[in-house]
Amino acid sequence: MSSLQIRRIASHLLLTKQGFYKRPLLTVNCATKQIISVEQYGDNLDSLEGVEFYSGILCNGFVNAHCHIELSYLKGAIQEGVGYAGFAGAMAAVRGNFTDQERQRAIAEADDAMWSEGVDAVADIVNDNSSFAVKSRSKIDYHSFAEVFGLKKSNLELCKHLAANPQTTLSPHSTYSVQSADFDYICKNGTAPLSIHFMESEGEYLLYKGEGPLAEWYKSAQFKCDFLHHNSPAKRIVNSIPATRSVILVHNSFVSEEDIDIIMNHFSAPVYWVLCPRSNRYISGSIPQTVELLRAKKLNICIGTDSLASNHSLSILEEVKALKDIPLFERLNWATNVGAAALSVDNRGIINIDGVNLNTMQLTENSRAKRVL
Ligand SMILES: [Zn+2]
Repeated sequence: MSSLQIRRIASHLLLTKQGFYKRPLLTVNCATKQIISVEQYGDNLDSLEGVEFYSGILCNGFVNAHCHIELSYLKGAIQEGVGYAGFAGAMAAVRGNFTDQERQRAIAEADDAMWSEGVDAVADIVNDNSSFAVKSRSKIDYHSFAEVFGLKKSNLELCKHLAANPQTTLSPHSTYSVQSADFDYICKNGTAPLSIHFMESEGEYLLYKGEGPLAEWYKSAQFKCDFLHHNSPAKRIVNSIPATRSVILVHNSFVSEEDIDIIMNHFSAPVYWVLCPRSNRYISGSIPQTVELLRAKKLNICIGTDSLASNHSLSILEEVKALKDIPLFERLNWATNVGAAALSVDNRGIINIDGVNLNTMQLTENSRAKRVL
């Protein structure tokens, strides 16, 4: 092995799955991204030759556990705080206003920004073909989910074509937007994890009681649901998805303890619970109160950005900052190791987070994530 391929990297802290490791000195093989050794340095760091020092924290690359990169052209196009119905209406109104070129440029810029901030892998929702060219050139490891929806007219056939792209899985959009035949077909075919929007609003639960904004909208639009006999979104999930198939549940803003128990009692495969705090705040004005419930239940929590239609950036570090009341170790573990487990990615890069207040163990306004390896 030539010495060119070896780098020695030190920092204040290293994030491990067990906690923060102090005064780490890493020896890494740049070609394979493998960490050859981790030592603890003493007072002799200055005298060691060829060591690069990074202030703050070193950790494995981030995983964005929920994104829609194809919607990047909608950055700034939709007003904040309009609520879920307002957001859906605004999306429909502005979607047609952009050229293919503008869409492609926005996707490429978003991909660049995520890579330079240290994102190694993304769970990305697709509704069309527009993101696959950028993905095929990207250094980021994308796992795409072709999102099936439509109560009157389903897009299942289109999604089957999309699912022919590399690392792409058919997935139901949610428990309220897909009829039984499609939902069951998707859940019973295939073994890759499914990614499902889940309990983003209370209306999803109320629909099964014939109440709330979704029930009213469907009534006025004359949409008939053939799945309400399941009685709740959580019960529909466990009645439809084999226990051995892993699921990535996204948002969870209104999930209850009962919902969690129903789901966890069913699955033998891992269940991942994704939080997208800044997207929720963009749309509804607040961050979910359910974070503490998910923590108390010791669930596998991951972090996602959702799309630039409902976020100011696709920055995982900014999502981590938004959850400021949670101990930093947990938040960073969710953003790195738990997300990587959800997508079964290993061999990730190393990133540095600087601008950390090491006394309070809080990120600051000035904290930035940069790729080291
Ligand atoms: Zn989403």
